[in-house]
Amino acid sequence: MFRLYNTLTRKTEEFKPINPDHVGIYTCGPTVYREVHIGNFRTYIGADILRRVLMYNDYRVIHIKNITDVGHMRRIEETDVQIDPVIEEALREGKTPSQIAERFTKLFLEDEKKLNILPATVYPKATDHIKEMIEIIKILLKKGYAYDVDGTVYFDVKKFKNYGKLSGNTLGKMDNLLKAVRISLETDKKDSADFALWKKAENDRFMKWDSPFGEGFPGWHIECSAMSIKYLGDTFDIHTGGEDLIFPHNEDEIAQSEGATGRKFAKYWVHGGYLLVDNEKMSRSKGNVYTISDFEKKGLDPLSFRYLTFTVHYRARMNFTFKALEGAQTALNHLREIALGFDNPKIGCAEYEERFLKAINDDLDMPKALSIVWELVKSDYPDSAKAQSLFKFDKVLGLELERSKELLKKKEDPIPDEILKLVKEREELRRKKRYHLADQIRHRIKKLGYEIGDKKDGITEIKSVKSQKS
Ligand code: AMP
Ligand code: ZN
Repeated sequence: MFRLYNTLTRKTEEFKPINPDHVGIYTCGPTVYREVHIGNFRTYIGADILRRVLMYNDYRVIHIKNITDVGHMRRIEETDVQIDPVIEEALREGKTPSQIAERFTKLFLEDEKKLNILPATVYPKATDHIKEMIEIIKILLKKGYAYDVDGTVYFDVKKFKNYGKLSGNTLGKMDNLLKAVRISLETDKKDSADFALWKKAENDRFMKWDSPFGEGFPGWHIECSAMSIKYLGDTFDIHTGGEDLIFPHNEDEIAQSEGATGRKFAKYWVHGGYLLVDNEKMSRSKGNVYTISDFEKKGLDPLSFRYLTFTVHYRARMNFTFKALEGAQTALNHLREIALGFDNPKIGCAEYEERFLKAINDDLDMPKALSIVWELVKSDYPDSAKAQSLFKFDKVLGLELERSKELLKKKEDPIPDEILKLVKEREELRRKKRYHLADQIRHRIKKLGYEIGDKKDGITEIKSVKSQKS
């Protein structure tokens, strides 16, 4: 039995798919105007684990992850000014918004691959779905859930009686602070809690589309309603995102979608906790972000970040430090070194497989699952049994443990200059036939942790003692 915490009901529930044949997951994807940061990736690794656990339980999964390339407006701090960050970046770089979006979408997909996040079934782009968004807005206008003020269309929150059911921010409870989350420039709204479905374009705006309401561009929330409904249907199984999306983004998605279709939108809402730096949310606006390329510059394997995320439950907040990441890298390397000896998988260890399944099926308890992995590899079972179970678990972990040999080799440190210098000196001595002195240098090199071998063609092979063991 797979149990999952549902933000909507505030309970851990038994997972029951709508359709026995497959499970539909929608994940709010990245806004592509800069490199996606590791806070975002913590959330996407969480969704990947959810998907892998469903697959481990023999479900077929359809996973949709959108690419936000328009409409996610950002408020410039302490001002009323709203900007579209994709357009802002395009202006800064003298490029078109679609060139910016393309560049960072490509980088995002490459980083997902480095983190071994399974590719989504479809990565729909917001700008490819303007027609679908307009259709929903038309229905909402027709049903009286929306109103048009001079080319800008707002959702009338008061008309949707279940508003607030996800976040608890019901209209009655919403104080002025919450209302301020809305765009304060929108002074023409009936109620400050109403939100924009379609916005009238300013005269010189880069990205705009024709619509029955006039030339404009979509609000941020409507894209996720349009794309999830298009690919997964009016009602689907699971919607995921980070905790900051609960309100207003996901709350507004529910209002628009259920208002338009008259049916329940997503059945389970899964939200991941923040990744923090010095106990503050990692975010571009705070300038405290790290990216996968930062790890690579430091010689750290992106999969060590994947490992690190397993050490804290996905719903809890997690503070990021490089010290913790280095610790995760050491642990992962150690696990790989152990996995190296496992090359003949036979019947697995039923006891550990049962416990592992119980942990992952208990609202994706990865810290527990990871501790079971370590117990397994340190147990007295034969290596062939450990191999079978470990490689099976790796279908969920996604740490590529079966490729340990190759990955450890790649990670091997370059030969230090000091060793290279000694090897050269020794070659010189051998050329002069001063073998005794050459041997002394070989011993010195060995003491420093390296073995050298002389090949027939005169080339000296240098290996660290650690890598020779493998
Ligand atoms: P954005 O590109 O800002 O729309 O964010 C993409 C995804 O990353 C959303 O699901 C956010 O909730 C999530 N996210 C943003 N910042 C963090 C963070 N510091 N920790 C965890 N998830 C985050
Ligand atoms: Zn979304």
